Amino acid sequence: MSIHVIAVPTPFAVGRVNCYLVDDEPLTLVDAGPNSGTSLTALQAALEGLGHRVEDLGRIVITHQHIDHIGLVQILADRSGAEVCALDRLAPWLADYRGRMDGDDAFAEAIMLRHGIPTDVAIALRAVTGQFRAWGASATVTRPLADGDELPFAGRAWRVHHRPGHSPSDTIFHDEASGELVGGDHLIKHISSNPLIARPLDGGAPGERPHALVTYLASLRATRAMDLSVVLPGHGDPVEDHRALIDERFVMHERRKDKLHGLIAQRPHTAYELAQELWGNVAVTQAYLTLSEVLGHVDLLVGDGRVAEEVDDGVARFVTV
Ligand SMILES: [Zn+2]
Repeated sequence: MSIHVIAVPTPFAVGRVNCYLVDDEPLTLVDAGPNSGTSLTALQAALEGLGHRVEDLGRIVITHQHIDHIGLVQILADRSGAEVCALDRLAPWLADYRGRMDGDDAFAEAIMLRHGIPTDVAIALRAVTGQFRAWGASATVTRPLADGDELPFAGRAWRVHHRPGHSPSDTIFHDEASGELVGGDHLIKHISSNPLIARPLDGGAPGERPHALVTYLASLRATRAMDLSVVLPGHGDPVEDHRALIDERFVMHERRKDKLHGLIAQRPHTAYELAQELWGNVAVTQAYLTLSEVLGHVDLLVGDGRVAEEVDDGVARFVTV
């Protein structure tokens, strides 16, 4: 196989991030790891082990906006002169990384307060997110890709698909001839990709919250319909049977949805209370992640007409219908 995985260390709980070196013309790196010296050193050593240098890169492809994937993009592009390819609507976000992250954090904070997370927890979380900021960095996209575009190489071509849900910018790259799919964090074998509630790339409509899990499940259905030989993910091992794994995810989300419905049927709950009942203290330390999980499933229940949202004094509670 002429696609080599380079597992770059990160300081995050998720562990290493998979970057991929595509030994083709142009020589291509998919994702770049977080902005840290340790990650850069590891990436450089791996490239050398494969007979290449950073300076040889002709193209860098970005799968999505999360900091474990974008941090080193601009450093590598500056050193190599490589073109930077990413989803067209992600380009303005990457160009203004810090400004956009500030906006995204303010958006997340408003959602936390509306859904019952205490102010002190929200403030503590903001400080933590602020510390993570430096692992990401701005990047200039020189080759914006539209959904449906073809990205050609000398020896292959990738079809570009926008499959949002884990993040608003999730992009997957399909080699239709070989069936290989470069999937980023869209589908990961050992963990279910969390549908984090993120501010839409265009800022979104005021007061509206994206339904990230609804979006994600629709994206998974589209991927399930594809004929694939292997999915090369952003973390962990390759996925050989994408349909079986996607079906497992569907079952898991159905089960979690029913569990939440049972809790809401007992009495009205805020999303934060639901998260605490499901995950205890993790709902505090990982407040936004668990809140996103709960809200995603509650959105499904609202869509089914089984649950409704009641807002009192700015705080939302969910009740059964
Ligand atoms: Zn990731």
